[in-house]
Amino acid sequence: MAKKSKKPDQKSGPAPTAASVFEYAPAPESRAILDLQPSYGLFVNGEFVEGHGAPFKSISPATEEVLAEVAEADAADVDAAVKVARRAYSRVWSRMPGSERGKYLYRIARIIQERSRELAVLESLDNGKPIKESRDVDIPIVAAHFFYYAGWADKLEFSGYGTTPLGVAGQIIPWNFPLMMLAWKIAPALACGNTVVLKPAETTPLTALLFAGICQQADLPPGVVNIVTGAGATGQALVEHPDVDKIAFTGSTAVGKAIAREVAGSRKEVTLELGGKAANIVFDDAPLDQAVEGIVNGIFFNQGHVCCAGSRLLVQESIAEELLAKLKTRMATLRLGDPLDKNTDVGAINSAEQLARIRELSDIGDQEGADRWSPPCDLPERGFWFPPTLFTGVSQAHRIAREEIFGPVLSVLTFRTPSEAVEKANNTPYGLSAGVWTEKGSLILYMASALRAGVVWANTFNKFDPTSPFGGYKESGQGREGGRHGLAAYLKATKAGE
Ligand code: NAD
Repeated sequence: MAKKSKKPDQKSGPAPTAASVFEYAPAPESRAILDLQPSYGLFVNGEFVEGHGAPFKSISPATEEVLAEVAEADAADVDAAVKVARRAYSRVWSRMPGSERGKYLYRIARIIQERSRELAVLESLDNGKPIKESRDVDIPIVAAHFFYYAGWADKLEFSGYGTTPLGVAGQIIPWNFPLMMLAWKIAPALACGNTVVLKPAETTPLTALLFAGICQQADLPPGVVNIVTGAGATGQALVEHPDVDKIAFTGSTAVGKAIAREVAGSRKEVTLELGGKAANIVFDDAPLDQAVEGIVNGIFFNQGHVCCAGSRLLVQESIAEELLAKLKTRMATLRLGDPLDKNTDVGAINSAEQLARIRELSDIGDQEGADRWSPPCDLPERGFWFPPTLFTGVSQAHRIAREEIFGPVLSVLTFRTPSEAVEKANNTPYGLSAGVWTEKGSLILYMASALRAGVVWANTFNKFDPTSPFGGYKESGQGREGGRHGLAAYLKATKAGE
């Protein structure tokens, strides 16, 4: 917890518990391992080159310290990247046997493991997420994705989706899991024989540029992976480029819809991984202490900047009081502060813009008559912070129950019967994920078949594995990432048996 602090601007709950006043010695991870450059270029054709747009700064959201200046790719830079990706595709990568492509992916995976501490420190610094999450969740999943898809590279004939790559993939990713989203995009694309031009988010470009260095270290042929940094205009130039065969986008539903409109009628393939508003549903027979851990993980992991965050808690009426009391006690133990401190549970909000969005929607929750509660929690003076927050007295009509807040804010609703829980859970334009907490296997099966969500977790939450497909229904997007299904996004569709 930072020494200089200010109080959050809303009422907070009961007196701190023994756990929340317990003083922990700070245990910051050292930054010494990083070789941070003052400025970074674009990564095109295996080299760092200058961009022709206006360079922008990437800052640490925890301190507002400028970490580096980053080049902006304009339409001509994007064009140059697509051209070298096309050349690398037709001359090198698509001609290489899958077993050889696989060796490069294995090599990248091993370097990610070897440099995992460096990657984790930079991810926490640039994104604001706690080091224990980048170190223990993000980076291991990134390496696992490269290992997993390396294994597919010479086995595509067993994929069920053919063996022919699409060509050049334009990939656009958000800021909440910068390296993980990069891995989910690049690993399957390369395994299938495509080359890529990837645009990271403008607030978190640095680990993608570190990854570019890993591609150099792995001797990946030039042009196979290209990284163009910039904001929406750079992404748009990639989407509009006539020689891109596929657009793979992860981000907000609004931008996803605009991209779908842009590519409609073109020959481009498109997959969209968009927003979510997951229900985490707790029945009266659930093991409540475990459910509380799952609720906390579901909404406060990564500050709630998670597309599949369990942002709507649906709790069976008969246990609501007991569960909420336990949840508040647990929330009071969450430590918010320096993302590089190994004790930190809740890090910084990624940007001033995102903080403003979270504040605005939370204020609307107040105006709509819901009851806001946060544990006593000092917020650091500098940087972007929002305390773990709970809204009770929420109804289906409230905007905090309908809209994605993408922050550490949980809306609580109650239900009486399983069918009412299903009706409330499905009453959303999104359909990415859901959680079910009960001892009854039959109820889990009923809920899993009735919930319109791409992933349903039972008695757990936020479990990711490269072998398991992930993706949404309705406005949460189209297409799947991960697993065998994730190969379909990067192979030319063939008829069964072809
Ligand atoms: P965003 O849509 O604002 O930006 C995402 C990316 O798109 C960024 O790189 C951005 O620069 C780029 N972009 C913006 N405008 C563009 C345009 N017109 N054309 C092309 N590219 C453009 O989203 P965000 O705020 O960065 O990310 C948060 C959103 O991402 C949330 O809604 C979250 O649910 C979603 N998300 C979904 C998944 C999933 O797997 N479904 C995973 C992570 C995040």
